[in-house]
Amino acid sequence: MKCPRCQTDLLKSSYEGVSVDVCKSCSGTWLDQGELKQIIEIRQEFFKSSNIKQTIDGKNFVVPKAESESRIPCAVCSKMMNTFIYGLDSGIVIDRCPESHGLWFDQGELEKVQMFREYWEAEAQKRGSEWEDLANSIKSPESKFTLSPFKILVNFFFD
Ligand SMILES: [Zn+2]
Ligand SMILES: [Zn+2]
Repeated sequence: MKCPRCQTDLLKSSYEGVSVDVCKSCSGTWLDQGELKQIIEIRQEFFKSSNIKQTIDGKNFVVPKAESESRIPCAVCSKMMNTFIYGLDSGIVIDRCPESHGLWFDQGELEKVQMFREYWEAEAQKRGSEWEDLANSIKSPESKFTLSPFKILVNFFFD
């Protein structure tokens, strides 16, 4: 497989125990369908809370316009991938194959997704049943929601 960003051959590598494909040239990572879920569930490495806070608070969460507009091809089928923002307002732009072959993370984005996720999971735990009720109601497709942390939770059910 070639890197969708710079066309260098991707190399097999282990990321938190999951076999992923990385580009040594631009440091991006290709995840096949389902691998993100595995990485998040395994959670071999915990991030320092100070790092998480920095990421959540940081300017990193502003989407670079150039990035959201540049389209790159899927590493499997070469169809142009769609860009989307992980968790809806995280500011992390990820590329997803329209045929669901996988996801592309530019350098550092995979770590940011994990931090973002850990942060909101911790928040959800703090808020306990209030959020559990909400999470359950969100699973029904006709439910409407407007608050941003809730939108983030919604996104968790779709990856
Ligand atoms: Zn590359
Ligand atoms: Zn594809």
